[in-house]
Amino acid sequence: SREIQLASRPVGEPTPENFRLIEVEVPDPGPGEVLVRNTFMSVDPYMRGRMNDVKSYVPPFALDEPMQGGAVGEVVASNDDELAVGDTVVHMSGWREYAVLHGKACKKIPADLASAYLGVLGMPGLTAYVGLLDVAELRDDDIVFVSGAAGAVGSLAGQIAKLRGHTVIGSAGGPEKVAHVVDDLGFDAAIDYRRGDLPGQLRDVAPKGIDVYFDNVGGDHLEAAIGHMRPHGRIALCGLISMYNATELPPGPNNMMQVVGRRITIRGFIVTDHAARAADFERDVSAWVRNGDIVVRETVVEGIERAPEAFLGLLRGANTGKMLVRLS
Ligand code: NDP
Repeated sequence: SREIQLASRPVGEPTPENFRLIEVEVPDPGPGEVLVRNTFMSVDPYMRGRMNDVKSYVPPFALDEPMQGGAVGEVVASNDDELAVGDTVVHMSGWREYAVLHGKACKKIPADLASAYLGVLGMPGLTAYVGLLDVAELRDDDIVFVSGAAGAVGSLAGQIAKLRGHTVIGSAGGPEKVAHVVDDLGFDAAIDYRRGDLPGQLRDVAPKGIDVYFDNVGGDHLEAAIGHMRPHGRIALCGLISMYNATELPPGPNNMMQVVGRRITIRGFIVTDHAARAADFERDVSAWVRNGDIVVRETVVEGIERAPEAFLGLLRGANTGKMLVRLS
């Protein structure tokens, strides 16, 4: 079995040399444990933070140890009373082809939706759901702006707001993603941030202003959103991906006095604090997915040896929808 270890810590943008692919023996599962053959693993932006040796809301990855992250797979041996050989499970022992882990650390899921449990029905999906409905407190008639709109979290946040009848504006990198956001995901409009002049572009597509900003990006997106907000607007600060590879801090939003004058709320959140909403989320979003109310896009890279490439690509926008690695 193969796994990927953290070989060195990146400075700035990670490179393939920060990762190491090694061959390991697959141990037998002990009491209460299961052996899982992983079929898909997730690469997620938060993993960039875990490559740094700094204290954060999740501990750093250890050097010369397998990396970790969401994965789905099939149980191939079980010493757990509740899991049988052949069950499909989701768990946190990704970046490896076979995982031995406690049955309690696995959640049984429907086999036909396996990869969705790493995206729209998993952690990124719950992030979109609670970020929009609970953190930004979506209200009737809000005009909603979502950055990272073609990605895993942003694509669902925007589509949920559309299902609720809101006007929704997206931002994404490049004309193809902008077309995807409008034509496939059904946003009312989208801007291509690579063209620059975010304030001007926002004014053009949202002439009445915005009430909610779902921020996946930070930096100039955040500043432009504040500048275009109506009074009592709300910002759910989900992630700041424009800064994850930065070696020095870019200038922050320079218009904080507008936050004061317009009585804007800016609220950061971490999805793991919102587990109490997991049942509501799964009920609503799995129904929307099964009914075809939500368009689900995945970008799939084949083979564990290409997992670093998938992760580096994610940070550069190589994905449309959820970025996944399929393990053969
Ligand atoms: P995505 O699927 O959105 O993939 C990342 C995307 O970020 C890329 O596709 C790229 O899209 C975009 N991007 C990269 N660099 C920049 C940049 N400089 N400016 C603007 N966009 C950029 O990832 P996720 O949906 O998994 O995550 C989205 C955000 O949500 C991240 O910030 C992540 O950290 C955060 N998050 C937060 C959680 C929480 O609990 N608070 C939980 C999960 C995710 P493009 O081509 O459009 O540039």
